Amino acid sequence: MLYLDANATESPRPAATEAAIAAMRAAGNPSSVHAAGRAARRILEDAREAVARAFGGRPADTVLTAGGTEADTLALRGLAAGRRILAGATEHPAVRAIPHTEIPVLPDGRLDLAALEALLAGGDPALVAVMAANNETGVIHPLEDAAALCRAHGALLHVDAVQAAGRIAIPPVWDSLAVSGHKLGAPMGAGALLLRTGLQPAPIITGGGQERGRRGGTEPLPAIAGMGVAAGLAVPDARIGALRDAMEAGLPEGALVVGRAAPRLPNTSCIVLPGISAERQLLVLDQAGICVSSGSACSSGKVARSHVLLAMGLGEQAGQAIRVSLPWDAPEDSAERFLEAYHAMVLRLRR
Ligand code: PLP
Repeated sequence: MLYLDANATESPRPAATEAAIAAMRAAGNPSSVHAAGRAARRILEDAREAVARAFGGRPADTVLTAGGTEADTLALRGLAAGRRILAGATEHPAVRAIPHTEIPVLPDGRLDLAALEALLAGGDPALVAVMAANNETGVIHPLEDAAALCRAHGALLHVDAVQAAGRIAIPPVWDSLAVSGHKLGAPMGAGALLLRTGLQPAPIITGGGQERGRRGGTEPLPAIAGMGVAAGLAVPDARIGALRDAMEAGLPEGALVVGRAAPRLPNTSCIVLPGISAERQLLVLDQAGICVSSGSACSSGKVARSHVLLAMGLGEQAGQAIRVSLPWDAPEDSAERFLEAYHAMVLRLRR
């Protein structure tokens, strides 16, 4: 098997798994005042500090959550306070599920800054959501330019950095930043929302007042312990970019790389094979032991075309794209093995 679906979930990092297992073995609730509770609290605060340090925040302004979706939701629901919400057209469903006005993207997948400016100028103060990098195409958005526009119009900027964190440097221009543990190589079940000092989101989960009243509920300590370790280990790696580039250089004639004209995450490649549905491609690649995913979601038996690719102006081809995303531990022969299977698939499906 060759695992090339890191954007769905990263390969586990052994040290993060070990930290999670160690936290599972220890008794103690981080909210308890006795010695066992204090030991659990230490694990929690160490992880908080590691996540804050890795992504440019402060521990006191970092809310630990149960994942990226919760961090996005806390930012958009908790910080809006009457503001209009504007969100990029290629945002993840975690953001898209919250009522908003859409900011279009350009054909290369990057946020349309002129459209953002027009939207900001035309109404009440806004809360703007822009992802640092897209999960399907890897396209990196112009965060610094978007932040300058937000500042000029008194808007807050929420950045979904779930895919970018640990893979590229993230400019410190956000008011809030969402990350997810399992995209860093930690066990699933933890995330974080980093906040600019002074911002206090209204909780979306109420309860025992944990996380300084910003998120109720006992923290998922094992996953958080893993996330703290993974945050320190996940750093940009030129090796992965070289493997991805070698893979794209060997694609057969006719295969198209989406967003190639834009800056992209080094591990991600979204490849259209015109005329062949993504589902058929996935099936053949899976039989060959290659784990990749399709941009199009399949719900109740019906294939929906990727909203990301539709927003970039692709028509039919929005249902003919697969996403290859290299994990941090991708083997050195990943490009060769993928290309061998891909070329064989193309021959078979074009026949
Ligand atoms: N945002 C982006 C860009 C993502 O890719 C994902 C997951 O794929 C999420 C948010 C949601 O993160 P989680 O799976 O931790 O809820």
